[in-house]
This record gives sequence, structure tokens and C-alpha cells, in this order.
Amino acid sequence: MSSRAEVNLERTHKFLWSKREWTGIPIMSANMDAVGTPAMHSVLSKHKLITCPARHYLGKDTEKFTESGHNICWFGGIEDISNLSKVSTDFIGLDVANGYTIRFVDAVKKLREKCPETTIAAGNVVTADMTQELILAGADIVKVGIGPGSVCTTRIKTGIGYPQLSAVIECADAAHGLDAHIIADGGCVNSGDIVKAFAGGADFVMIGGMLAGHDECEGTAENGVMKFYGMASKFAMEKHNYHNGYRGAEGKTVEVTYRGKVEDTIKDILSGIRSACTYVGADKLKTLSKSTTFVRVNNTHNTVYGD
Ligand code: 5GP
Repeated sequence: MSSRAEVNLERTHKFLWSKREWTGIPIMSANMDAVGTPAMHSVLSKHKLITCPARHYLGKDTEKFTESGHNICWFGGIEDISNLSKVSTDFIGLDVANGYTIRFVDAVKKLREKCPETTIAAGNVVTADMTQELILAGADIVKVGIGPGSVCTTRIKTGIGYPQLSAVIECADAAHGLDAHIIADGGCVNSGDIVKAFAGGADFVMIGGMLAGHDECEGTAENGVMKFYGMASKFAMEKHNYHNGYRGAEGKTVEVTYRGKVEDTIKDILSGIRSACTYVGADKLKTLSKSTTFVRVNNTHNTVYGD
């Protein structure tokens, strides 16, 4: 390929159960307070990326995310099934910290029964067996990741987690065998990580921290930094009254550098992915995973957003 401008980052996905099709750039903002905002949606949708609104908009402020509901994926918990089934949108999803319960599988079945023609995502899980189970229960897309998030403390607090790239590779194989899809959720700190998720077989990549610290985020910058917190952090639990008596915080609050307009960051991310495609000779995102392989190395990793 002679130029990165020739690379097509759009994908068309056809979904197993809903039978719907979606075309766009398969990167989504995490359904977190900071980045799941209407202002973020305005910019992301212009670039054909997906926004997952923060949960507190579900049920009361859904109209803030524009009329069409296009390039939106509404996520909620098991208790949100009724609200989720009422929104008019491309995608709906159920996400819980631990997708390994019978109650959760039953919830996915219930949502599928209520919404036979809507594309449904469900997670989070990290293994092939549970990916298959959620698909057979009615999920078109499985959300993959336990412990990799930038403001997640699950691995530290509980010792539970799974290396994200391995999870993506294994769950993508399982899902693709059934003609279903996966979202690689969490752990990307720069565009190269998004490339690796796609190369490992992810059909969508969800990012939180990479979109934090911009004008379109919740909150304002003070002294050059903005607040970014996990949805299971003490701060989020107090803000939304999520306390349930026995569950400790499995998320933290951090300060991220203020970076101005998210448009610039998005262009930078897309240009990194385009460049990766030119390195490996993929003229479109679809062929990236076929054009790449992984080599095991021992290395340490620096968590630095942007440059
Ligand atoms: P990031 O892109 O920032 O690395 O990861 C974003 C993902 O982290 C979210 O989509 C979600 O799956 C996860 N996440 C967000 N808040 C929390 C939290 O408080 N605790 C945990 N364990 N995970 C979180």
C-alpha cells in the first residue's frame, strides 16, 4: 500500500440474532460517566464511531443522545431490562462485572425474548465457554474483559482477572465460530493497543481512559487535569447511590491530563490504526487480523495516554 489514506477503517457487521447490519468504525466509548456524554456522541458519531451513554441517562435522558439513536449502544444492568427494551437504537447491552452467573444468562434470554430484532451485547466474560453460552442465550455480541481497565482495581482487590489479549483471542475464536461478535473492553492506553485488539480478532474495541480528559467529557479541567473515575469506584457509588451494603469499591479515581478537543485525539487514534494497516499490508480493517501475528516477548509496559 502506498499511503495510509487508502486504508478503509469501516466495517459492516451482520448480527446473528437480530439479523441487522451496522456499518461504521467499530470503536466505542465506554459506558462511563466521564466519557459516555451527549457531547462525546456528537463528535464520535461524526467519525462513525459508537457511543455507549453512561447508565444514568437510561430511562430519563435518552433523548439527549439525538433523535436517530444511530451509533449508540445503551448498556444497563439486569434491573434495567425494561428500560433497555424501550430505547430505539442500533444496539442495547447488558453488562455486569461478572458475567459468570445463571441469573445473568437468564437476563440475556429475557432481553432477547423482549427484543427479538435488536442487536444485543452482553458481558463481561473472558473465556470461550462463557462466550458461547451468552451467544446461545441470545447475545449477538459478547463484551470481553475482566480486570484490564485503567481505573479498575479488580485484579488488585480480588486477584481475579485474565490477560486481555489472550481473552480477546480466545473469545473471538469462540464467537466467530458461531457467527457472532465480540467487543474488546478495557486496557487500551494508546492506538497501538487498539490495533492489537483488532489483530487478535476483536470486532469492536471499547475505550474509556483514552477518551478521558477532553472538553466533551463530564466535568471541567482544573490546573491542567480532569477527574476520571471507575464506575465501581467509591466516588461513583456515592454519586449514584450504588451502595449495596457488602460490596467494596473495585475502581479508583485518577487525574488525567487535560487534552482539549476529543476530535484531535480521535484523528490521532484513527491515523495510528491506518498506519498499522499499511505496515502489514491490510487495505481494510477487516483484513488486519489475517495480516498479523503475535510474537511473545518479555517486556514492561508504560501507562501513558497519548504521546
Ligand atoms: P479503559 O479503556 O479505561 O482501560 O477501560 C474501560 C473499561 O473499564 C470499561 O469499559 C469497563 O469495562 C471497565 N471499568 C470501568 N469502571 C470500572 C470500575 O470501577 N471497576 C472495574 N473493575 N472496571 C471498570
